[in-house]
Amino acid sequence: MIAVGLLNWNSGQHYDHGGDCPCTQCGKPTPLRSHAGEPVHKVCAEDWNDRNPNAARHEHDGRDLGTQRFHSDPPRKSRRRNR
Ligand SMILES: [Zn+2]
Repeated sequence: MIAVGLLNWNSGQHYDHGGDCPCTQCGKPTPLRSHAGEPVHKVCAEDWNDRNPNAARHEHDGRDLGTQRFHSDPPRKSRRRNR
């Protein structure tokens, strides 16, 4: 088992088909975006959460990102499918 909290980013909103942008954490290109639209690898987001368990994320390198902690997709409501 892994101690790091893994994020659930299954939603298509996390994949930007427009192309790669530099990850705000490691600087390498990534097509992934956080909920705030910030380019970041999922593993980098998980790593950041792990290293900053209580921090609110409002800036990075002096730039105000307007973001909070990385978080998982909300549980999907099953409106369309009745079981
Ligand atoms: Zn990264």
